[in-house]
Amino acid sequence: MALLVNLRHLAVREAVLEGELPAADLDLETGDAIIRVTQPLCYDVVVEKVNESLLVRGRLQIVLDCRCVRCLEPFPHAIRLEGGLCELPLQGEEAVAVTNDCVDLTPHLREDILLEFPAHPVCKPDCRGVLIKSLSPGQTLGTDGPGEQASSAWDELDKLKL
Ligand SMILES: [Zn+2]
Repeated sequence: MALLVNLRHLAVREAVLEGELPAADLDLETGDAIIRVTQPLCYDVVVEKVNESLLVRGRLQIVLDCRCVRCLEPFPHAIRLEGGLCELPLQGEEAVAVTNDCVDLTPHLREDILLEFPAHPVCKPDCRGVLIKSLSPGQTLGTDGPGEQASSAWDELDKLKL
């Protein structure tokens, strides 16, 4: 399945495309454990023929399965795009491929989404990372202070985690 727009329909009016595109059809597998694409792309777009180009606008949303680069915990990262999405020329060297009067929007929307991928996904802006999380409450960070104080500091951390 692909996200196709039929040019014949556009001769009369703009086309409204709404639905979900399975992750497999979007072909966004990065081969990277940090960001995986398993959930479908939700799209709600309007395609309009203006001069000799297709104008695509509307909304795209997809939730990525990310892994925090600091603490390595998995977390969802939503990408939302809204407004003008792409402009596809129908003539000239840059012209999009037309098959049976249809243009496949999938590769162009894929580009839009790829640009929004986080370079260094973190579960939250102040994530403390894997070092703090991997220490058990009894451990200290090697300070010279009394053990009593150190463990109470960890108790405070534990309360925060709840
Ligand atoms: Zn994290």
